[in-house]
Amino acid sequence: MRRAMRDVVRGPVGTLISGGADSATLAAWAAREGYHQRGLFISARERNSAQELRCARAITDGLGIGLEVVDLGAVFRPTADPYPFDVELHTLREQPELVNLAAMTSFNTSLLITAVRVVLAGGRSLLVGLHGDDLATKPALADSMIALQEVVRCTVGTVTPDEPFSFELPFRDWSAMDVIRAGLELGVDFAATWSCRTEGPSPCLTCRDCTARAAAFAAAGAPDPALPRR
Ligand SMILES: [Zn+2]
Repeated sequence: MRRAMRDVVRGPVGTLISGGADSATLAAWAAREGYHQRGLFISARERNSAQELRCARAITDGLGIGLEVVDLGAVFRPTADPYPFDVELHTLREQPELVNLAAMTSFNTSLLITAVRVVLAGGRSLLVGLHGDDLATKPALADSMIALQEVVRCTVGTVTPDEPFSFELPFRDWSAMDVIRAGLELGVDFAATWSCRTEGPSPCLTCRDCTARAAAFAAAGAPDPALPRR
């Protein structure tokens, strides 16, 4: 599990933090590995964005690192709801074909803008908490990373020719279960994370992200502390 870490470059990095279990583990892992990191939260003003942001702040406050909000609401929701071309970034994981095309476009745009924010802040890497199960489900994600890296290189290369930008996916060879186990080892406060697509006092337990999270905790043999005790 740890072999994947070796290729990662140390230095000032941005860490993409969604407020969920994977990104909480990513930030804790990066802290342990000695990265000088700054959190970045992408807001597309989705249903659960406020909830996710509260959790993202809890994660970065707990680690004593900064958090920048990259507000892309104006990009993805330029008009009042319901926006006619209503793209939820979360549909990335579930929708095939055409809707997925829209979601991938949102994802790529978000990552590109966030990567440039990292560059402008003096960083040269953006850590992303996608794991092997994510990439197996959506191989286009990995291709996007490679392509976007090249776009960032071309975009900022004239300014920083000797410091190429890179996306780093430290968990790319890990399963969702591996990430949860690593988070438990690292002492991540999973109770303060939010993976559900809805907003409310507790997770809905029925959306795809809730289901995936439950499966990962079950595979890791651990209860999810974010869930109300029965
Ligand atoms: Zn849910």
